[in-house]
Amino acid sequence: MRTAEIKRRFLAHFEANGHAVVPSAPLPAVDDPNLLFVNAGMVQFVPFFLGQRTPPYQRATSVQKCIRTPDIEEVGKTSRHGTFFQMNGNFSFGDYFKEGAIGLAWDLSTKSVADGGLGLDADRIWATVYLDDDEAIDIWHKKIGLPLERIVRRGKKDNYWSMGIPGPCGPCSELYYDRGPAYGKEGGPDVDEDRYLEFWNLVFMQYERGAGSDKENYPILGELPAKNIDTGMGLERIASMLQGVDNLYEIDEVNPILTRAAEMTGKRYGQAVSHVASESHPDDVRLRVVADHVRTALMVIGDGVIPSNEGRGYVLRRILRRAIRSVRLLGWREGPALPELLPIARDCMSPSYPEVAAEYDRISSYAYGEEERFLQTLTAGTTILDLAVTETKTKGGKVLAGDKAFQLHDTYGFPIDLTLEIAAEQGLQVDEAGFRRLMADQKAAAKADAQARKTGHADLSVYRAALEEGGPVEFTGYREVARESR
Ligand code: ATP
Ligand code: MG
Ligand code: MG
Ligand code: MG
Repeated sequence: MRTAEIKRRFLAHFEANGHAVVPSAPLPAVDDPNLLFVNAGMVQFVPFFLGQRTPPYQRATSVQKCIRTPDIEEVGKTSRHGTFFQMNGNFSFGDYFKEGAIGLAWDLSTKSVADGGLGLDADRIWATVYLDDDEAIDIWHKKIGLPLERIVRRGKKDNYWSMGIPGPCGPCSELYYDRGPAYGKEGGPDVDEDRYLEFWNLVFMQYERGAGSDKENYPILGELPAKNIDTGMGLERIASMLQGVDNLYEIDEVNPILTRAAEMTGKRYGQAVSHVASESHPDDVRLRVVADHVRTALMVIGDGVIPSNEGRGYVLRRILRRAIRSVRLLGWREGPALPELLPIARDCMSPSYPEVAAEYDRISSYAYGEEERFLQTLTAGTTILDLAVTETKTKGGKVLAGDKAFQLHDTYGFPIDLTLEIAAEQGLQVDEAGFRRLMADQKAAAKADAQARKTGHADLSVYRAALEEGGPVEFTGYREVARESR
């Protein structure tokens, strides 16, 4: 089943069950100062959950574009983490609660394809619940009929949600799908989260949390007067399950980019005999990184972010540069790679997001421009870094000096993450603490300089010269203006 069709069925299911269909918010999280990018479907509904605004509907559903930068290191190495992905969600604002949320998720997941469902095999679904959430266990077991062996109790880290501040919080229940012995070890999600693939998280906003900075230990003040539901189903994850592929880089909306990257670099994708993601060939991992990152860059620039050295722009820059470097590590030497790859990403995504085709000139000019700049940086920086690596190794050293990393950053604009990556490939560590110290020193110096300017160490000679030439000038502003306005 194509990704676009899964999305359509998801929205249709919830619309038929009284949910208002709400469009995705743009990727930049402009209303939340603590968040660069929207990372879940619920982000645009936060004011409703916090009771700051009254929702115009009691039930809503959406397919939200998400970015999760913390997952960047997982990309390609697990079967299930993208930097960009789409989160299908359904939300209840003081309307249905646990039983409704579990029932709606179960129905869509297991209803046959002919009847408009997703047709998952009910015997392969597992559920997790929070430690003491017997109410959820009862619903799963008695109402849905899930055997107790496939219901797992889990602790705060996985199965409890809060926003990290006083406000709503509560237990979660997650749905997992057993992909079978070819994908890993038996024993449920506690044993292997790649074989047992989490595809849907149901959050029950049931309690009010008090203050406290400890992530897992904060006071619970009591039950919320109005209880809410927030769920998120990974569209790419369910697509990988329904399309019978090993991971989310091989689904219809991503695979063509991966295939093009393999063609360009002459690599054969899928070299490992195993389906287990952690046993993948390094080239396969790189091809997945390329495919994921190119798609992410397309969507991020599409939503108005441009490469820069801070905030969202820096995340984008890092993602673009990782994509470009990965193609080069795969052996590509023919100049810019993005003109080969980005159009494929556009063609994958434009059926669902026509704006990436309509805006392609703008999107591609930022992406291609960034690649040009980066290739210049790479040429200059790599030569210096290679020299430093050889020098360190000849001396029998294992650690690249912090001032080398700093020089690369400061003089050549060579990002530290790249230095770390290249050094690691050469079996070297980097004195990161030393690097950070030099960065801090530089920052402090810049600050002192700015301060000096403010407090009058500035060059006043121009004013002095003017004074000597024309003598003191009487300030007549108030008088003149007053006269004019009469
Ligand atoms: P995992 O434990 O696999 O990292 P998660 O528990 O962090 O997932 P949630 O925060 O519960 O994920 O998000 C809700 C759903 O969104 C998940 O059940 C999953 O289907 C999907 N999802 C989460 N992170 C990603 C990602 N990086 N790429 C693709 N889908 C994701
Ligand atoms: Mg995660
Ligand atoms: Mg999880
Ligand atoms: Mg989860």
